[in-house]
Amino acid sequence: MGAQRRHTALLVVDAQPTFMPGGELPVPDGDAIIAPLVQLIRSGQFSFIAFSRDWHPANHFSFSAEPEFTDGSWPSHGVAGTANAEVHPALIAAARAAGVEFVIISKGMEQNVEAYSAFDGINLETGRTLTEELRARQVKKVETGGLAGEICVKASVLAGIKEGFDMSLFEAGTRFLGPPQGAITEMLGQGAHVDGESAKAPAA
Ligand SMILES: [Zn+2]
Repeated sequence: MGAQRRHTALLVVDAQPTFMPGGELPVPDGDAIIAPLVQLIRSGQFSFIAFSRDWHPANHFSFSAEPEFTDGSWPSHGVAGTANAEVHPALIAAARAAGVEFVIISKGMEQNVEAYSAFDGINLETGRTLTEELRARQVKKVETGGLAGEICVKASVLAGIKEGFDMSLFEAGTRFLGPPQGAITEMLGQGAHVDGESAKAPAA
């Protein structure tokens, strides 16, 4: 139990108000991830948490006044230094209350580079990538949730597998822009585990 806890981390992808109802690029029901993630943080299963955040310059190339969504153009969102770009304060408070060490991984900071995966970001305090932060703590398994499921969460899960981590999706702590099944099937097909209803029912 102790050894397993020591090697298991929680990755919370882009749980930022900018992606929640009332934010600039809301994911339907996006704030519903907070309660299950807080419960998970309180469970004591993790010795380390990484929170990623979109941390874009105000002129990031993905921003469009007429976003298509399906082609990588989006409304302005996750602008560095704005309150809506901060990791949701309830999650930070939960990590602090539980006494779990955590880092914040910022991504998408270059004007002309997209960064959906948390593994493309860095900890601004240490200059380390997410992989470096995880390896420094001998993490083997990474439970993952956040927003949006088929964009940044999926990209992070697939990147984590390529980096050699045992990646799981925590479905209750994830919300999608559209129907989730395609992304979940893809993650399962690449070797991810899914902790939720979708893992029990085969894809239609
Ligand atoms: Zn973005």
